[in-house]
Amino acid sequence: MMLYADLIVTNARVYSMEVEGEHTESFAIKDGRILAIGAYVKIDELKGPDTAIYDADSKAVLPAFIESHAHPLDFAKKQLELDLRPRMTPNREAIIQAIKQEVAKKQKGEWIIGAGWDENLMEGKRFVTMADLDEIAPEHPVFLLRTCVHNAMVNTKAFELSEIALDANDPEGGSFERDESGTLTGYVMEDAMSVFKTPTYSIEDTKRAWKIAEEIFLSWGIATINDMATGKEEFKVYQQLQKENRLRLNVGMWLWGRTQMSRTGLQEEITTLGIESGFGNEQLNVQGIKFMIDGSVGGKTAAVAEPFEGTANNYGIVYLKQSELNDRFKKAIQNNLRISVHAIGERALEMALQAFEYAEIQKYPHIERHRIEHAILPTEDHLKRMQKLSIIAGSSIGFLYSIGDGYVNNLGHERVKRAFPHQKFKAYGIVAPGNSDLPVTEGNPFLGVYTAVTRTTSSGTKTDRSESLSVYDALCAYMIDAAYGNFDEHKRGTLTVGKKADFMVVSHDPFVVQEEQLKDIQVIATYVEGVEQYRVGEEVKV
Ligand SMILES: [Zn+2]
Repeated sequence: MMLYADLIVTNARVYSMEVEGEHTESFAIKDGRILAIGAYVKIDELKGPDTAIYDADSKAVLPAFIESHAHPLDFAKKQLELDLRPRMTPNREAIIQAIKQEVAKKQKGEWIIGAGWDENLMEGKRFVTMADLDEIAPEHPVFLLRTCVHNAMVNTKAFELSEIALDANDPEGGSFERDESGTLTGYVMEDAMSVFKTPTYSIEDTKRAWKIAEEIFLSWGIATINDMATGKEEFKVYQQLQKENRLRLNVGMWLWGRTQMSRTGLQEEITTLGIESGFGNEQLNVQGIKFMIDGSVGGKTAAVAEPFEGTANNYGIVYLKQSELNDRFKKAIQNNLRISVHAIGERALEMALQAFEYAEIQKYPHIERHRIEHAILPTEDHLKRMQKLSIIAGSSIGFLYSIGDGYVNNLGHERVKRAFPHQKFKAYGIVAPGNSDLPVTEGNPFLGVYTAVTRTTSSGTKTDRSESLSVYDALCAYMIDAAYGNFDEHKRGTLTVGKKADFMVVSHDPFVVQEEQLKDIQVIATYVEGVEQYRVGEEVKV
């Protein structure tokens, strides 16, 4: 009996991404996998009476993106809050309008939570006041977190429902700002924010939020995403979503190892239970365990070798001692868990490599492909040792687009030259999947591809191009290289016969457009295992 295709994609510029520069016109899918790929005359033979045909209208078709490092549920929860970033609400009036809409939607007494505002980037450099909020939301408690996440603006109802008297003393480690007459301004700082009884999200809330977030990921062409800080709550949410048939993406989970950054560490529990890398199924599985050594460049807390620009002796911070890291790595390896470790500055990279060396990872060849996350400022010596130990660089090249200006300010142009060293990774044979660390930066992989090629920030600042990649290599960082990072290179990452039919149709051919336009490419449709999961222009219902 003839084996007919379920779906044939035709009249397309199909980039299998197996070989640079090659494309063909069609491919056929059967049972979620690629059955054949090539010229239409050949593929047409697989057309049966029930075969669906997708005419791609000469558009480019590529493997779907694989996001190698993100925090998908943090991003999801943000979808439940008002987005008050200056590009969404550029002035005071826009903020008032947004809150009025929430008031109309919500019951009296229900919290209105917003985040992301920055008066410095708003027209007139003016944010809303407590008096404004009291006027438009007298019956709704309002809590608006500033972009720095250290301060917030609240209204009188928020004080009332949190049972904080208007003449209360400042709580320890924080303060309620007051004007000259001693009246509250509504601006609350640091630990004073934690006395407000803002709602926490239930598992059900988070699952609802996932639906919105998942649609956004699919609209960016993402079919597989790695959750780099999976805790107990995240683990539950993903399990339930899958059980309830509500998970459309593939999710790789990296269990959070050590208590820090207000996340509870699970290494002891994971070890006691005996969970190993690979546990789960093709759609949802445990990739490994995640640790974190230093901070960030934006916060001047990454453990750098030379002080941050404009400081005499700020070398950043490390969160833990070498001896503890060594012990944790050894224990993880002995329990068959792959290790992923956040290390941005040179001093953190040195600690990470020393711990890998201490744990003698070469002696455990069945647990390989350990990762250094971000891996932003490796020295030549670090690169050699990464090569020797076959360590993957989870490169957050997306940072250079979204927060690249902060990198230039805090590191200086000279140091940014050797940050995200993709050409060096390539020369050393170090696999370097790209990522955005969403919601730390914007999650659209085309922005990462754009900056990997152009080394240009979102404001247009051009940095040195000696580490810039070709369009092909930049795309591979979010496709086959990321698949390798998940042990999925035989399943995903290229459009190859036998692999999963995870692909996207895009508005402009990335190999034809001017490099400046790479960031503007839109996804028209995203397919996961041969099933259309996203089509531009369709509204998501929640
Ligand atoms: Zn992260």
